[in-house]
Amino acid sequence: MNYNSRNKFCYKCDSDIYENEYQYSTNEFGIALCRNCQNWNRAKLSGKTTQEAINLFLVLKRRGVPAELEKFDGYKTIDIAIPEAKLNIEVDGQHHNYNPNQALSDLQRTMHSFRKGFYTVRIPNSLIRDNLYEAAEILLDILIEGRDRNLYDI
Ligand SMILES: [Zn+2]
Repeated sequence: MNYNSRNKFCYKCDSDIYENEYQYSTNEFGIALCRNCQNWNRAKLSGKTTQEAINLFLVLKRRGVPAELEKFDGYKTIDIAIPEAKLNIEVDGQHHNYNPNQALSDLQRTMHSFRKGFYTVRIPNSLIRDNLYEAAEILLDILIEGRDRNLYDI
């Protein structure tokens, strides 16, 4: 009995994938994707999206979260938005921590979004690279906690 046989599926479309595709995709993208979805991923990367944002988005979607990748809020593009939960997720590179102007600009954006009723969670992309699934589980806990407090209804 091969317990891992069902682990070889595409995280985006759920189709079964072969071992070599699985190995290639996890090495190249950090997540298992079929050939079609690898092309989708490459197209996303040619824009401003990072691999870390894509992977977190895919894991959240798979867990049933109504997340949107690269949502424009009228002012700026949010990496991952969950409008129903009024939660924005920004997956940030190191310059967001080390560059004071960037950090201040981020905080101002957080405030502007908060005024409109949206809370922003900032996640370092290093965390996504090292602990993608654990980070996604904690975000799920936040979403469930917010729902239980009737902050929103999803
Ligand atoms: Zn796929």
